[in-house]
Amino acid sequence: MEDNNSKNFTFDFEALERCPLCQGAVLIPNGKVRWYDIDFWYVICPECGLKFMNPRPTRESYKEFYKNLFWEQKIKNTGFHQEGQMWQTKRYKWDNKRVWDSENGRKNRMEKHREQRAKTIIPVVADAVSLNENSRILEVGCGFGVTLDEFFKKCKCHLYGIEPSDEAQKTIKEFENIEILGRYAEDLEEISKKELKFDAIIFSHTLENLIHPFNVIKFATDSLKKNGVIYIQTPNLLTFDQMNPYHPYIFSKQSLGLLVKKAGLEYKVISEAIDKMLAAICFKSNGKS
Ligand SMILES: [Zn+2]
Repeated sequence: MEDNNSKNFTFDFEALERCPLCQGAVLIPNGKVRWYDIDFWYVICPECGLKFMNPRPTRESYKEFYKNLFWEQKIKNTGFHQEGQMWQTKRYKWDNKRVWDSENGRKNRMEKHREQRAKTIIPVVADAVSLNENSRILEVGCGFGVTLDEFFKKCKCHLYGIEPSDEAQKTIKEFENIEILGRYAEDLEEISKKELKFDAIIFSHTLENLIHPFNVIKFATDSLKKNGVIYIQTPNLLTFDQMNPYHPYIFSKQSLGLLVKKAGLEYKVISEAIDKMLAAICFKSNGKS
């Protein structure tokens, strides 16, 4: 089955001369992938350890891609995939090389998220903030809304999502109790100026997809209640060097730590050094931000 939409899609690129996290000017080539005859190259900053795509698609290109193509491809199993980027790769029951029927593909993705994301995220958040029916949970890049739905099962709290994909938004709307606050993570800038504040803001498989994660985390910090937390789950450079067209960044414990510190957050890494996903819970620093 051909994917006609993607054939007509191209990215516009921009190059960075300095590390966007620490402004370091020495950038060392560190791998590349290729998709639809397009090169995606990576560099690493020896100052702070940040790995990032350079040159990279512009934000405008990504906006269109995430709105119209990302989930549309994923649920057909036609998105980018490359083996060998994960240490001690396991084959999951969701992996195969067939093209899927979209409806079954959506069910498959939702099942995967319920199994792999909700179960790891919710206990950590529940441990960090007291969850009850007045709690407000926002997930940035909430996909089909599965993790939020699991939060509701736990504490009947208020649910909010930000999600670029038209395809995913259709499913989110079926849940009825999830309010979509915006399409892009950068919409947090406007949201942060409002009175609505959150007990927890979740970034699961999201931060690495953003062009300006540094600004977005700052806006998220400004959107928290006084004792609110930010939960971050992102590929761990050490064991999961996930270079793909969707990832402008691949974080390590050190580079993620620097990013959240710059946003005025304290953070605690929840994951082990060996885990393929780096997970951290972040709190507002006392007296700052
Ligand atoms: Zn750097």
